[in-house]
Amino acid sequence: MNYFVHESSYIDENVSIGKQTKVWHFSHVQTGVTIGDECSLGQNVYIGSNVRIGNGVKIQNNVSVYEGVELEDYVFCGPSMVFTNDLTPRSKYPKGTSAYKRTLVKYGASIGANATIVCGNTVGRWAMIASGAVVTKDVPDYAIMAGIPARQIGWVCECGMPLKESYTCSYCDRSYKKISNELHEK
Ligand SMILES: [Zn+2]
Repeated sequence: MNYFVHESSYIDENVSIGKQTKVWHFSHVQTGVTIGDECSLGQNVYIGSNVRIGNGVKIQNNVSVYEGVELEDYVFCGPSMVFTNDLTPRSKYPKGTSAYKRTLVKYGASIGANATIVCGNTVGRWAMIASGAVVTKDVPDYAIMAGIPARQIGWVCECGMPLKESYTCSYCDRSYKKISNELHEK
């Protein structure tokens, strides 16, 4: 075993965890889950059945990644952010797992503390979701989203710095160009 699980956490059967991944206190990983290498799951993290998590993903304290959610490599989930998997839940009329709406968070994207990603949406590569935002539609690559419901307030570099009009990062010199409201690295 070349990963770490704190003794207060539960890993169910048929779970794959990559090397150097750490699962901290009071967490629960359900059956059928795949977690990549070098991930960090903070305190009180729940991973639902059959969820796939890539490499280098950081999940801060008090996050539940429910069945139907997929996190690609290097996704960051801020503390107490929320995923869902049912748009119209009823306790009396449960839909069952096959009706869950899928949520995909693409490579490198970051989700701020206490934000909500409503199910059925995709967060683009390297997108940045502000703290407390409620995402109710697909998010373009490199977009900064804020508010309720979340609106795009700008563009962000791969390194995390917001981009100015020139689309060249003042911090790391990466350069982008905008083609029909999509940002692409030059
Ligand atoms: Zn940059």
